[in-house]
Amino acid sequence: MDSEQLREYGHRMVDFIADYYKTIESFPVLSQVQPGYLHNLLPDSAPDHPETVEQVLDDVKTKILPGVTHWQSPNFFAYYPSNSSVAGFLGEMLSAGVGIVGFSWVTSPAATELEMIVLDWLAKLLNLPEHFLSKGNGGGVIQGSASEAILVVMIAARDKVLRSAGKNSLGKLVVYSSDQTHSALQKACQIAGIHPENCRVLKADSSTNYALRPELLQEAVSRDLEAGLIPFFLCGNVGTTSSAAVDPLAALGKIAKSNEIWFHVDAAYAGSACICPEYRQYIDGVETADSFNMNAHKWFLTNFDCSLLWVKDQHALTEALSTNPEFLKNKASQANLVVDYKDWQIPLGRRFRSLKLWMVLRLYGAETLKNYIRNHIKLAKDLEQLVSQDPNFEVITPRIFSLVCFRIVPTDNDEKKCNSRNLELLEAVNSSGKLFISHTALSGKIVLRCAIGAPLTEEKHVKETWKVIQEKVSYLLRK
Ligand code: PLP
Repeated sequence: MDSEQLREYGHRMVDFIADYYKTIESFPVLSQVQPGYLHNLLPDSAPDHPETVEQVLDDVKTKILPGVTHWQSPNFFAYYPSNSSVAGFLGEMLSAGVGIVGFSWVTSPAATELEMIVLDWLAKLLNLPEHFLSKGNGGGVIQGSASEAILVVMIAARDKVLRSAGKNSLGKLVVYSSDQTHSALQKACQIAGIHPENCRVLKADSSTNYALRPELLQEAVSRDLEAGLIPFFLCGNVGTTSSAAVDPLAALGKIAKSNEIWFHVDAAYAGSACICPEYRQYIDGVETADSFNMNAHKWFLTNFDCSLLWVKDQHALTEALSTNPEFLKNKASQANLVVDYKDWQIPLGRRFRSLKLWMVLRLYGAETLKNYIRNHIKLAKDLEQLVSQDPNFEVITPRIFSLVCFRIVPTDNDEKKCNSRNLELLEAVNSSGKLFISHTALSGKIVLRCAIGAPLTEEKHVKETWKVIQEKVSYLLRK
């Protein structure tokens, strides 16, 4: 590592990235390249000799950026956002700069302790119950993704129940969720060895705005108990991926508690909004949960990856995931004086990710972050109004956060035709390069999703987006 070279190249790279942000609106939001495009542009093997930064940056401009979908564009409305920010970027830089691997406390005490502190800070901002704070049995940890968060708590719950029910009971363990739960849960079940027939995917429909009905859960649990099965894991949602639905946590948690089921709450996207007092109500009932996750990298100005997980009982995690090889033994760990985050996650190695969350919290402060969220929600509210005023469209589920779900209304009650028309519209707007929205299916209806949450999005972008959608639909309907 040559410090002076780092200084020189680093400045150039920062300039390059700053210019990228300055011109981000000039790129098609959704990359328009064809599969395999890069193979034709890059050599077949790595260079034998060093090339210059200029050569590489030239290639980035001409060959890489065309194949980039611009998630940070103010016109990116697909899936859920993945925020970058100056503070998050600086934190990432610093993390790369110090280049530590903080799997055990001893490998960089600051990495572990800062992570515990910022997760406590955020738990307090979310007004999470005390038992999620690090001072007792609970605590928070940064995972790479919500999928990893769900997997590790499922494994913790599985091993906890198997310790009392016996290892041979794995085939009897049952998982519950609504059919709106992210596919990360299904993946976790696959990895954790849960029998596919023991995954209860309970129907949630428009009658509850796609929230899970507690009666359905109770019925399923009772049936499974009668059949000699062991209900052990429930995943509730605050902000589902398709429509941002919110499950009734308190009622679900009550059922989970009385049946000794581990209750996990997935608030990957909407959790961020709950730092605002007026949105905190959507995690009411989280007191009954055993674990809770939200992705700071979605809507909290923290660069990917930074998925936050809190657990009530850290020992459930460590009993399932800890290893103690000779080559990692050290005094602090042996004396049980410290947290070793390697035992709270799947990999051993871990980056200093708390730096970027700490930077975000310090450089922006809670009030700015709250207003950031509020602004997106207001923009979404305005868009929802525009959609509902247009006779060609209908809003499909009432908006709670910053996701607007809508579609072209069916003509002649022909749902099939309506679905293909909406997919045509999706293709038309996304291939224009002017914006990027995504879709889902709700009760068999193809629904278009406009998730507002990119840091650069302003009112003018939302208005222009709606204009493009309206133009495309007029063309389609004329056809
Ligand atoms: N849960 C919800 C509600 C999500 O919306 C998503 C992704 O959008 C996930 C989980 C999975 O997130 P990750 O990519 O962090 O695994």
